[in-house]
Parts: sequence; C-alpha cells; structure tokens
Amino acid sequence: MRLEQEIKKPHNYAMLNINQLIRPNIRKLKPYQSARSLMQGGAYIFLDANENPFGDGLNRYPDPYQKELKAAIGAFKGVAQERMVLGNGSDEIIDMLIRSTVEPGRDNVIVHEPGFSMYEVMANLQGGEVRKVRLNEAFQPELPAFLNKVDEHTKLAFFCTPNNPTGNRLDAEVIKAFAQQFNGLVVVDEAYIEFSMQESFTKHLDALPNLVVLQTFSKAWGMAGARLGAGFMQPEMVEVLNKVKPPYNVNKLTMAEALKRLEEPEQMQRDVEEIIEERKGIEESLKRAFAVRHVFPSDANFLLVQFKDAPPIMDYMEVIGIILRDRSNIPGCENCIRITIGSFEENFKLIKAVNKLDMYYESD
Ligand SMILES: *Cc1c(COP(=O)(O)O)cnc(C)c1O
Repeated sequence: MRLEQEIKKPHNYAMLNINQLIRPNIRKLKPYQSARSLMQGGAYIFLDANENPFGDGLNRYPDPYQKELKAAIGAFKGVAQERMVLGNGSDEIIDMLIRSTVEPGRDNVIVHEPGFSMYEVMANLQGGEVRKVRLNEAFQPELPAFLNKVDEHTKLAFFCTPNNPTGNRLDAEVIKAFAQQFNGLVVVDEAYIEFSMQESFTKHLDALPNLVVLQTFSKAWGMAGARLGAGFMQPEMVEVLNKVKPPYNVNKLTMAEALKRLEEPEQMQRDVEEIIEERKGIEESLKRAFAVRHVFPSDANFLLVQFKDAPPIMDYMEVIGIILRDRSNIPGCENCIRITIGSFEENFKLIKAVNKLDMYYESD
C-alpha cells in the first residue's frame, strides 16, 4: 500500500532524474568505442578500422561525435557542445529519444493534434502508446488538456512550434508551465524557427532540465537532401543518446557542407527573408481567391489554407503538375491543404492556377 502511493506520487520536476526516464536495457549499455576514440593524439597511422588507405578523406570514417561541426553550430546558436546531439535529420533524434525512453507495451508519449506526424509513427514503431491532445480553435495548447493525459508511464511530450501543418507558433508560456509540472522529457521541435519571430527554447535549457530542443538543416538551411538535425538537451541526456546512436550517423559530406554554410549564414538569412516576403504575397493573393475559405497565419515556410472544397483543388493541381499536401483528414483541418512557399516563378504559377478556379465559385 505504501509503496503504491510512493510510486504514484506526482514527481517534482526540480528533482527530475534523467536516469529514471531511461529504459533499463539502455541504462546498462556501454558507449560504442572505436579504437580511435581512445587515442590521445600523435597517432598518424590508422590501421584500426579496416578502411581503405587510398583517398582524400572520404576513405576514413567520420568523427562519431562531430566535434568540429558541433563547435560551429554551438558558436552560431549559442549552445554548449556538451548539450548537443547531431543526427541524420532531426527525425533520427526523435527516434533515438523514443527508443531510449519508451518501454514497448508500457510507456506512452503525448503529441498534439494537429501536429507533426513523425512522433506518432516512431512511437508506434517502438510499441509505445500515443496520447493525442487537440489544440484549441486557435491551434494553441491548453495546459489542463495536456496535464490530464500524463500518467506515471508518460515519458515524452512533443510540442512543434512553429507547428506543422498549421504554421503558427505555440504559446511558449503553456509549454514552459507544462514542462515545470511534467516529470518526463518535453521535446520542443523548432524545425521552422528561422522563419519565425519566436525566440528559441534553447535559452530555457538551464531552467528546464527536462527540455529537449530540436532544430534542423532541412528547411531554412536548404539541406534536406544532406540529412542533418540537431538536438539540444542536458549533458546527461546527450550521454544517453550517444550510446544509442549509430556511431557514424552523420557523414563527412554532410558535415563539410554544413560547416561551409555556417561560415556564411547570410545566404540562409537571405533565403529566409525572400521566402517570408513570398509568403506574404501568396497569403494576400489566396485571401482574395473565391476558392479559399481561410488562410491561417504562418510563422513558417508554408501556409495552411482552408478551401471551400479541398479534393477538386488537389486533383486540379496534380493534373497541372503542382503537388500540394492534403491535410484535410486531420481533425481540425477539414478541407485544408498545406502549401509550401516556392520560388517566385513557382508561386506565380500556383496563384494563377488558383485564380483560374475562381469561375467555379460564386463571389460570396
Ligand atoms: C521538416 C520537419 C522536421 C525535419 O526533419 P529532418 O529529419 O531534420 O529533415 C522536423 N520536424 C518537423 C515538424 C518538420 O516539419
């Protein structure tokens, strides 16, 4: 009886024990060590890893801890390297977080709806339960709705801000308040942060020991094809993920490209400004189109657009070669289509196509 009460007692986040959140088999793992990771410098002949001796660098395995790249990312984002995990896209970090914490058939994760679907896919792969919380009419999280879903087997809660597919940023105060009352990890996915005026949650890493912030090079940095994501978290959590991750999960070509882009971030900033300008133009045009019911405000590089009737729009666009993302099956997103902001020419063609459909709609 006493024991039961002690286990069920709500946890105090200030006493958060990261070890408690980690699955027992992962706790027991020893980090993978290559012979080279033990080296103290001064060794120049590498006969330890069965690599090919001929080549210009790609013949060698990459640094499993990506120290040079972490230093550059850390300097740019103002986060210490000890708090960083890099992944083959941020998707890989989401996967590692779930696999490290969620015991199949027992534990659960909380996601919001509408939200990014990958959290659910990966939690299902792990055999974890997914608890969905609806955002309110304004696509904002309501604190009690999230707290109500928590039990002693809730390991993770995901917040996507700016949110995909709705485009808006979530109320940071609600996320902070939730993090303070939740004894699991709070993952704040900032894939679209560069397009937003919102401040990064990375500044709360000291105050919120259960916080994990995810960012990516796939969107603003234009490197979706190279696969690079970053997770920022407590050093203890970094140690856990370092044990779980495949040793060479970020390749040398990707690291070299990211280093190059970080040397001149102005290019990224110019791209972002242009995309935001384009977004404003498309938003205005779409708001005037008769086929459109509502354009949701966006802090990202896409717009969620509610049409009067989404299926014929999808069909027509496909016929003329414009691929959009149908989100109309998601609760709260009826007749909604997600439209990524393209180049000037691409956007021009999109708007032309939408305007062509005007004749089928009454100007109400
Ligand atoms: C695009 C996106 C990502 C990025 O995934 P990568 O694996 O880094 O390409 C992460 N989260 C959300 C919400 C996204 O929309």
